[in-house]
Amino acid sequence: MRPESLVDRALEVARTAPPDDVPVGAVVVDAAGRELAVATNAREALGDPTAHAEVLALRAAARVHGDGWRLEGCTLAVTLEPCTMCAGAAVLARVERVVFGAWEPKTGAAGSLWDVLRDRRLTHRPEVVGGVREDACAELVREWFRGPAEPGRAP
Ligand SMILES: [Zn+2]
Repeated sequence: MRPESLVDRALEVARTAPPDDVPVGAVVVDAAGRELAVATNAREALGDPTAHAEVLALRAAARVHGDGWRLEGCTLAVTLEPCTMCAGAAVLARVERVVFGAWEPKTGAAGSLWDVLRDRRLTHRPEVVGGVREDACAELVREWFRGPAEPGRAP
């Protein structure tokens, strides 16, 4: 599947995030492009520091993929550059490819602050495609931090 289509789907998912959670969306597809799982960031909603969109999507995908915890051949797509935890989870899940939207210079672990996904010391290194639909993904998060639009104000 094209990286753009995957990130578009992740964006759709991100828009369904619980109201108190930063809108980040993730999707996992198998090698045939079949959608295995989607998830949003739900840290506030679940009161769980590990409830990032990627972790929740990887967990749900592993339950339906049929190879135990392994997600070999699968792609994880997410609207925002993964943090260290999520990049680590993607490596451990052995996903084939990680596609993401906006770069996250403050916490990114797919090339910004760290590059966990392509660290040569690790035996599994997914292919990384970053900056896909970057503007739309960054705008969604910016919008959320700005808060709800005032009534009568043009969006
Ligand atoms: Zn994360």
